[in-house]
Formats: sequence, structure tokens, C-alpha cells
Amino acid sequence: MRPVFRFAPSPNGRLHLGHAFSALVNQRMAQGCGGRLLLRIEDIDVARCTPEFEAAIYRDLEWLGIEWETPVRRQSEHFGEYRDLLGRLIEEELVYPAFMSRGEVRAAIVEAEAKGGRWPRDPDGAPLYPGLDRTLGARERRRRIDRGDPFAWRLDSAAALERIARPLAWTEYADMGMQTAASIDARPQDWGDVVIARRDVPTSYLLSVVADDALQGVDRVVRGRDLYLATSVQRLLQELFGFAPPAYFHHRLVTGPDGRKLSKSAGDSGIAELRERGATPAEIRSMVGLD
Ligand code: GLU
Repeated sequence: MRPVFRFAPSPNGRLHLGHAFSALVNQRMAQGCGGRLLLRIEDIDVARCTPEFEAAIYRDLEWLGIEWETPVRRQSEHFGEYRDLLGRLIEEELVYPAFMSRGEVRAAIVEAEAKGGRWPRDPDGAPLYPGLDRTLGARERRRRIDRGDPFAWRLDSAAALERIARPLAWTEYADMGMQTAASIDARPQDWGDVVIARRDVPTSYLLSVVADDALQGVDRVVRGRDLYLATSVQRLLQELFGFAPPAYFHHRLVTGPDGRKLSKSAGDSGIAELRERGATPAEIRSMVGLD
């Protein structure tokens, strides 16, 4: 079986050097082992993703010399599949409707911290969801949902971990050559009760990425270091759904001249801007250190 790679940008902005690097690394690794390369458009955020940004992705990648298989999977065309998976988690009581507003979360944390100890934070520094509504009865949940209260479906992380009842790990390659790999312990508990879906959108980045990697047979996930820690939660979801986990390579991030992560509005490092200023694909490869 040929290894399957994917590049999965979100069309909510223009591609920059960081995306170019990621796409080129995927292409190189796929070519190096006779693998396949898929392109996936991660457009579940229909308010921020636009057809113009999507068209620009194809244009920029083609110009860079990236080749991908068609048809391209667009996540916005698969909400039904995500809804089914969410339904399984609801059925198994592994998610719950979380109603607490930002203000209520803040107040609960202030109160808990006043009683002693710092409230736990996730690896991004955000306080874990206090989950005071985790144990609401079925009738009360129904009542609030019917009343139209805003909520998100959150993972009951304690219940999920109990269900799996064994430590989880993932395979992380050490380099693009994939000759050596390490087993990394997953720590989904560090993220607490993450959002799995919204009231009006039956998915989240986490649910869709895990679903699609499995449904598309992706077995080599190559992406930036910024997603390394989130892999822990993805491993847990894969396990809950019975999906075979891919192996991962989290590559270095391309930073701007100030050493900071590039953003989608970073004009200077935009692929289209560089092209318009006369840069060649070979120059782009050299700018990101891929000669
Ligand atoms: N769509 C995500 C992004 O634009 C990448 C998802 C992934 O590679 O897992 O950053």
C-alpha cells in the first residue's frame, strides 16, 4: 500500500511561506517513498472561508509545482459525516452540551482559585473548561436546548479516558526521511473538555481532521509544530471511533524576520505577493530552506 499524505489548508486567508513550506515538505516526503498526496480544504468555518481564498490556494500551489489527487475533499461538503460521528459520541455519553458562557467560566475559575490553587490551564495557556454543567440531568439539558440556550458539545474527557483505559501514544518521525521515529505519549487530559462541535455546526477542527484523515486513508500526517500538542486529543478521538492512527511528522515553523510565526495577513511573506514581485518557485524553496 502506498503511504498517503495530505496538505490541509483552511481558505480563510492567503497562503504564505509557512504554507508553502508545509506543502513542499509533504510533496517531498510523498515522492521520497512513492506515496500519494491529497489536498484537503478545511472550510468548516463557512463565515470566514471564501471561494476566492480557495481559488487562490489552487493557484499558489500549482505555481509552486505541487501536484495533488482529485477530487479535492472539501470539508463543507461533509457535514453529514461529521454529524454521524458526533451522534455516536452523544449516544455513548462521551460529549455533553456545555452551556457556560465566557463570563460564567471566568467567574467559576475566580471562585475556585480564591479557595486555593491555580486553576489548570491547557498547553495554550487557556483555563480548562470547569464543566459545571457536565452532570446536568437529561431533562434539564433538553429544556435548555429547547429554550434556545447557546451551547457547544464538549468532550467529557474523564469519561473518554475511562472508556479507553490505557495510555495512548503516537509515532513521530524525527526527520523528512522517516528513517527514525519515536513513540510520543499522548496527554489528552492536559486539554480537558475540548469543544467537539457547535450548536449550529456539527463539528470542529478536531473532529473533522480526525474523521477525514481516517476516511481518506491518510497514514502520514505532515504539518507544523504548532499542532504537535493538539495531536494528543486527536489520538483520543481516533481511539474512541476505532480509527487507525496515522504516523506524524511535525515540521519546524517558518518564521518572519522578527522570529514570529507568520500570519495569513503577513503581506511580505504571501505567496501571491512574492510571485507578483517576480519571485520564482525555486526562490521560494530556497527562502524556506528547501534547496
Ligand atoms: N487546517 C489546518 C490549518 O490550516 C491544518 C490541519 C492539520 O494539518 O491537521 O492550520
